[in-house]
Amino acid sequence: MTTRAIFASWLLSRREGVQEVLRDRWVLCEGSRIAAVTETRPVADEVHDRPGRFVLPGLMNLHNHCFSEAVARTHSEDGNGRKNNKSIVYTVLLPLTRRGIEILSAEERMAIARMGVMQLLKGGAATVMEPFRAGIPEMFDAAAEMGMRFYGAPYVFSTSNAQAGADGVVRYAGDDGQTDLAAWTALHQRWNGAADGRILVTMSPHATDTCGPDLLRACAATARDLGVPITTHLAQGPEEVATIGARYDGRTPAEYLDWLGLLAPDLLAAHCISSSDDDLRLMAARGATVLNCPRVFARTGTSAAFARFAAHGVRTVVGTDGYNLDLLGELNAASMISKIAMGRPDVANAPELIDAVTASAADAVGRPDLGRIAAGATADLTVVDLSDPMLQPLYDPRRGLIALANRANIDMVVVDGRVLVDRGRLVGADEAAIAAAGAAAIGRIWDLPEARAAFSG
Ligand SMILES: [Zn+2]
Repeated sequence: MTTRAIFASWLLSRREGVQEVLRDRWVLCEGSRIAAVTETRPVADEVHDRPGRFVLPGLMNLHNHCFSEAVARTHSEDGNGRKNNKSIVYTVLLPLTRRGIEILSAEERMAIARMGVMQLLKGGAATVMEPFRAGIPEMFDAAAEMGMRFYGAPYVFSTSNAQAGADGVVRYAGDDGQTDLAAWTALHQRWNGAADGRILVTMSPHATDTCGPDLLRACAATARDLGVPITTHLAQGPEEVATIGARYDGRTPAEYLDWLGLLAPDLLAAHCISSSDDDLRLMAARGATVLNCPRVFARTGTSAAFARFAAHGVRTVVGTDGYNLDLLGELNAASMISKIAMGRPDVANAPELIDAVTASAADAVGRPDLGRIAAGATADLTVVDLSDPMLQPLYDPRRGLIALANRANIDMVVVDGRVLVDRGRLVGADEAAIAAAGAAAIGRIWDLPEARAAFSG
């Protein structure tokens, strides 16, 4: 069993459930476990002794879409592609992703998946929760090949062909919930627990307005039977609130999920932008988790303030939503957007935001072995180089991490004791080749006439 020692000028630790930063420690990993945290240099097969490093538990990015958001990247900014100022989810992302899966070869889909996993790792994440269409199972292959901890969440829809018309109203065709659930079950059987347990399959009904009551109940029953978490999109905008209210006796999207028994500690709900204060109190009472992705909403002029959710007592974690896979950059945005939205400097502080991608995120998926650095924990680590000249002078490493650092300062990412990123580079891989192949495959989608039309003007 390989032993590996990593020096930490600063080490993020916990004492009685509260974060603390320790100075000048060594983390000793034995195989996939953390064996010890020591003050003296341990004997190990491999020693990483670099000054100025801040060693954190492997960061957890619990909401991302490598494929669908890559389709929109540098196309959808500055309001481009929006019709009647409506969300591009139903007008652009879902239809183009669906078409893309049809026209691309398995090799091209794999190239996109590899590019996404590379960006996630270089963005600092050791773990991702990734909802995606079941038609791109290559996401699992890429995560397994590249060693990332991967909560794969193949979508289940009542209406997989939801599209918005020119009026911005979403229309639903077909009812393929049972087909999707069968596809999900096949992927669960194939992948759950693969790659020494790094690959896990998450139940993933797409959203409240694309999944009917019977399907949501079936999803919850299946997930709880199998003991897997459930993730979905919730209250993404006012249209969804209006749709659910009209369909289900004036219920809000959160009340709809609660009615069906989904609001519970095993539910991770993305966005909750249009959730009312009462909805957030309900989610807090039920122990559900909000997945906060502030930058993708900032793109459209909407403030998704981490601090608003946290103020209601809901467990709130942070993900990148596929937009820009720099998780440290996302935390910086979560901080800034919260302070502006709440008009206060003290909200969404550095320890809270660090918790949101470490211990709190691990709690959200029921994994006490992740999100912490301690003897016996799983050896997932993210190491940030705080010796960068741009980060000087440095008094407080946690504030430096949130206020000043970004993906360029990611030094190492370690998963199950294996070094996947070292000195900021993906180990044993040709980054430029991975990016070129992934971009070429996305380019084939951009060349579709419907893509050109969607993104024009
Ligand atoms: Zn999403």
